[in-house]
Formats: sequence, structure tokens, C-alpha cells
Amino acid sequence: MGKDIADVLSTFMEKKGIHPFCLKAVLFDMDGVLFDSMKNHTLAWYKAVTAVGIPCEREEFYHYEGATAKWTIDTLLRRAYGREATEEEVIQLYDLKSKYFNELPEAVVMPGARILVQQVKEAGLTPVLVTGSGQRSLLGRLEREFPGIFAPETMVTAFDVKRGKPDPEPYCKGLEKAGVASYEAMIVENAPLGVKAGVAAGIFTIAVNTGPIPDEQLLEAGADLLFPDMQTFAQGGFPEILRLLSDDGGAE
Ligand code: CA
Repeated sequence: MGKDIADVLSTFMEKKGIHPFCLKAVLFDMDGVLFDSMKNHTLAWYKAVTAVGIPCEREEFYHYEGATAKWTIDTLLRRAYGREATEEEVIQLYDLKSKYFNELPEAVVMPGARILVQQVKEAGLTPVLVTGSGQRSLLGRLEREFPGIFAPETMVTAFDVKRGKPDPEPYCKGLEKAGVASYEAMIVENAPLGVKAGVAAGIFTIAVNTGPIPDEQLLEAGADLLFPDMQTFAQGGFPEILRLLSDDGGAE
């Protein structure tokens, strides 16, 4: 963790000019936060992109996490052919990636995610899903694995946004759907582009490093706090945040 949670909260409140910090909603990224699904995504991308003859490394897809499929495909084609992808190429490659993804064994719920989501609900906060994913298989699983937690009205998916992370649009949409201001919410993210999007939206952003990316990249992206995994955050970090925010209305 490194940083003192109370100090970080105070700094954020000072920056935003708020006292107390009235937390009303927690915005959750999905892949790599609620589901341990990034291994499947990176493997599916690697197989699809290799299958169409474009050289790539599986690891690089962890760095593109959170971006739209179009952005990822344009990035790969620019490198390979010096041009952006046609609309047809985007559809074909994303379909192929989705096919490989759906052939893989179902990703498990991230350890710690259920405990965290339950605490959010019990504290009377609104849980909001904000994902760049358009994978209907995983979206459908949300209700089975986290029953009664995420309401469709407060979900932001690939179908709701034009610009993916690191653009703040997905998180701004999440605030809008939850009916809260940027200073009344927190974000739980695992990817550098997602952290950048959260910070750009002016929201307190907590990174959980559930993948192979070095911690520094999440901190450089602007994460307010960093935890090594969801369990540590759910069992230690989040209860501490709730305690600090309820003590005299904020961290001093
Ligand atoms: Ca993610």
C-alpha cells in the first residue's frame, strides 16, 4: 500500500474542496476487478490477432485493457501496416477474438470481489458497473454471480460509450447514471488506462493490481491508492476508508 489512507483522503478532499467526503457510489470496473478474466481476454486477443497474420505479444494486451476494440485493432494495424483498420476489419477481428474468448473456460469471480460488493451494498452505497466490455457472456454472468447488486439502469458497457478508457466518458456516464457528483464516488480499477479515465473524470481512484503490470504504471496513471489484490482491499482497505469517512465526516 505504501500510502497512509487518511492522508490520501485528506489530500483528495482538499483538492476537491469538499468536507465531508459524502461517499454515495462505488464504480466498479469488471474484467480484472469483479472477474479474473484478463488471462482469457489476453489469450483470446493473442490467438485472434496471430490468426490474421499480425505479429503480437500476449503481454501487450494487458496494456490495452479498457480501451475499445477499435482502438486496440487500429493500434495493431498501424504498427503492422501503417494504417487504421476498416470497419469490416474491426468487426471481423473482434468477432474472432470473441469466438476464442467464449471457447475458454469461464473466468472465476475475483477472490475478494463478493465481500467488497456486499460491503458496498450494506453501507447503503450504489454499486455501479463501468466496463468497456461488450462480452454478453460475462455481462449475463454478473446477475448470476452478484445477484441483486448491479442494476441495469446504472450499468455502463461498450454499448453506452463512444470513447473507451482512458477517456473519462465511461466514468462520467457512470456518475450520470448513478445521479452522483465526481466528489461523491470512488472507482475500483485494475488497468492503467482505466485509472487514467477515472482520474480524468475527477473521481477518487483505487487501483488493485490483479495482473502482471508493474505497480509503478498504475501509480503513474494517477491512482490515489494501490492494493496488491481485491482481497487485501476488501478486507483491509475498504473497511478502513468507510471508517475514516464516517469518523467526523472525513479524514483529518
Ligand atoms: Ca479491467
